Amino acid sequence: MSMKNENQNQKAAIYPGSFDPPTYGHLDLIQRALRLFDYLVVAVAKNDAKLTPLFPVEERIEMLRELTQEMPQVEVTAFDGLTADFARQRKISHLVRGLRAISDYEFEFSLAIINQRLNSNIDTVCLMPSEPYLFLSSRWVREVARFGGDLSQFVPPFVEKKLRQKFGFLREDQE
Ligand code: ADP
Repeated sequence: MSMKNENQNQKAAIYPGSFDPPTYGHLDLIQRALRLFDYLVVAVAKNDAKLTPLFPVEERIEMLRELTQEMPQVEVTAFDGLTADFARQRKISHLVRGLRAISDYEFEFSLAIINQRLNSNIDTVCLMPSEPYLFLSSRWVREVARFGGDLSQFVPPFVEKKLRQKFGFLREDQE
């Protein structure tokens, strides 16, 4: 996977997740992370403990690249296995994660501690999204898409189109 402008003196972070599909919430977090870090590796998990993803990893990567095409400091790549090992390989010691409503807190807190156990160099930086995205998750996007609901406030048009194709709700003007 090609590296963009990574430079050893820059402050880099990894933003890991499943991004199934990427949403405006993820984009908001990427933009916030870029205020803290010079370089961000958006790392798309190939194998998640969760059920089979809706989109294969290649398509999730493609959508994230489109979402970040104006951002030369963002690299989108796939990874397999533990985030802690991926961070070690890439010699990056900061992880970015999102904290939405309090329901995320316990999970993110324990994940951060486990990652620290696995790789003591790791620090997790949790960022809160802008308010409109506080309750936005890929899971809700998938649910709304499944029933043909309006997705325009949750995901960019090219992601919406892919979801409509997937669930067979494509209108003629979107083909
Ligand atoms: P997971 O890694 O749990 O599969 P996702 O791929 O959906 O979750 O998200 C990756 C990271 O982005 C997680 O830390 C998640 O909390 C965060 N995130 C997702 N959606 C939002 C949002 N709307 N606001 C803030 N953070 C978010």
